[in-house]
Amino acid sequence: MKAEIITIGTEITIGSTLNTNAYYLAQKLFELGIENHYQTTVDDDAQRLKDVISIALNRADIIITTGGLGPTKDDMTKEVIAEVMGLELEHNPEMEKHIQDMFTRIGRCMSSNNRKQATKPEGSIFIENSVGTAPGIYIYHKEKKIIMLPGPPREMRTMFENHVKDLIQDDYIMLTKSVNTVGIGESSLESRLNELNLAYENINIATFARDGRVEIKLIGKGLSRQEIERDMDEIIARLNVEFREYIYGYDNISLEEVVVNQLMQKGLKIGLCESCTGGLVSSMITRVPGASNVLDRAVVTYSNEAKMEELNVKSSTLKKYGAVSEETAYEMAKGLMEKVNLDLVASITGIAGPTGANENKPVGLVYVCIMSKDRHKVIKLNFNGNRIQIQNRTAINVLDEIRKYCRDFN
Ligand code: ATP
Ligand code: MG
Repeated sequence: MKAEIITIGTEITIGSTLNTNAYYLAQKLFELGIENHYQTTVDDDAQRLKDVISIALNRADIIITTGGLGPTKDDMTKEVIAEVMGLELEHNPEMEKHIQDMFTRIGRCMSSNNRKQATKPEGSIFIENSVGTAPGIYIYHKEKKIIMLPGPPREMRTMFENHVKDLIQDDYIMLTKSVNTVGIGESSLESRLNELNLAYENINIATFARDGRVEIKLIGKGLSRQEIERDMDEIIARLNVEFREYIYGYDNISLEEVVVNQLMQKGLKIGLCESCTGGLVSSMITRVPGASNVLDRAVVTYSNEAKMEELNVKSSTLKKYGAVSEETAYEMAKGLMEKVNLDLVASITGIAGPTGANENKPVGLVYVCIMSKDRHKVIKLNFNGNRIQIQNRTAINVLDEIRKYCRDFN
């Protein structure tokens, strides 16, 4: 079963309304395991709407439209669909009474326009709208299912949940599983993935990259849950071997949650000194419940003075090597470690851009120092991207370094 979403309205094509209906319906279809290859948006124009409907009837089994079911002249969805499908519109006295009663209840008069809402294509059925006036319409004709829903998101969603789901569900089961990695680029991950030759008929494997993390998503579809789960387990076992170094978790778990959990399990207290990330790492860590068990403090030392005053970075070091240097990163971490009794300190100094670079130090150059009581390492990183991307990628890298430290700690 293939579906197509058609969102109708000039307010969408001119950019005055964000198309949240398509977004919502796409997610719901995905959850239901219904393939959806096209989303079309068209303005309130009869001819263009006719074209869009004709195309969809050729390539989809289920068509869901939103918008254009109201009482005004530019609302023409059902008229156009009826015409394209060669169906007459018929008046439904029961629906007219229902709408009339609704207006009476809220103390308003029903306008003659509203009568239009009581018509439907022959052979179709109304879909109840418990939160508005315009009913939806369901047509099952020549093995195609056409579902028309009103534009207002609250009405559309309520109707989808209460009625539409049951009309379109088939017997297929769809399962998804995510394997989350960090520290490996999407292209090299993908080529190694291809070499694994994981050809399973009922499982599709896709990768999604974001700020230094890559999600490997398995999407399984079939008639037997057991079969899909068995195949997914086999694939995940192979991925666990191939990408052991990079996998930090599965499904919805975030890197910061993994880091906080690991620190908690190992009973480690951490401190942070951040320059170019301005507190981002600490903010990410503190989003996780339980962070107070592992994070002692975070200092944002943005200026040279702050680095000297708060962390005892030597003035001579800053002069000789600069604020963005291996030496400064090391002294920042050491300064905090000497001041406070901590198991682990991470320091960050870098150039987030767009200014501040020179010949030897380009935008995106970052030094990170990870220090424990008995050892330390300084990592030099180079990122592309704008200021925000550089900050985000730096934060992800730092979290990954903390994760690796915890993993190897015993
Ligand atoms: P009504 O009876 O409210 O007129 P309708 O079915 O005719 O219902 P439209 O007139 O097309 O719907 O849209 C009504 C309102 O719903 C729009 O002004 C807009 O705020 C919202 N809306 C319509 N389509 C979308 C969409 N695709 N995404 C988000 N909001 C939408
Ligand atoms: Mg309308």
